[in-house]
Amino acid sequence: MSIAIAVDGPAGAGKSTIAKILSKKFNLNYIDTGSMYRGVTLLAQRNGISADDVEGLCSLIKSSQFYFFKDRLIINEEDVSEEIRNPNISNKVSFYAAVPEVRELLVEIQKNISKKYDVIMDGRDIGTVVLPQANVKFYVTASPEVRAQRRYKELIGKKLDVEYDNILQEIIKRDYIDSNRKANPLKKAEDAIEIDTSSCTIEEVVEKMAYYIENSIDVVGD
Ligand code: C5P
Repeated sequence: MSIAIAVDGPAGAGKSTIAKILSKKFNLNYIDTGSMYRGVTLLAQRNGISADDVEGLCSLIKSSQFYFFKDRLIINEEDVSEEIRNPNISNKVSFYAAVPEVRELLVEIQKNISKKYDVIMDGRDIGTVVLPQANVKFYVTASPEVRAQRRYKELIGKKLDVEYDNILQEIIKRDYIDSNRKANPLKKAEDAIEIDTSSCTIEEVVEKMAYYIENSIDVVGD
């Protein structure tokens, strides 16, 4: 049986930074499922397909090849890792991710990856839907203001012209859509360990989570 670690939580809680560090520490493949929903949004935008066009979205996904190379997302041989982080994708992704048929197709790809490889997977429905059998499940949170501040710094660092207030509003809106959609909403799995990162350093959070992982899987961390 392969190893599976689930990391769920709202946007900007620090999931991907933490999961990347833990993936190296425990020699796991890091799978950022949010990037797959972002990738679908990017392809749909390029092809003029709206979130209402379920048939168009499904054939777009079925005719595309998604794979991860290290922590880069490659779709149809194109590295889309940078473009999917743009605010115009962040603003729209939750609408595409709310389409049940889109979720069904991406969840299937994610489940197949976890059958072949040892993974640490981050997203919104990993502990509840994608990896209900995960060795350890985490639910990582932080206040919306802290999350917006982190995202703001990250985007400013990439020289993007963004405003803190707009990012905060986008995060609040995305949390609402992600938590209230019918298909696989963002929610803490009953058996998930909740980690609030609002007032912790990355190192403190990593140390805490590594402790749980070390006690749940048969590998030795470094
Ligand atoms: O993790 P990230 O913020 O990049 O995710 C982008 C969006 O993708 C989320 O706001 C959510 O709408 C969607 N998502 C999802 N299920 C996942 C991962 C992400 O619905 N497992």
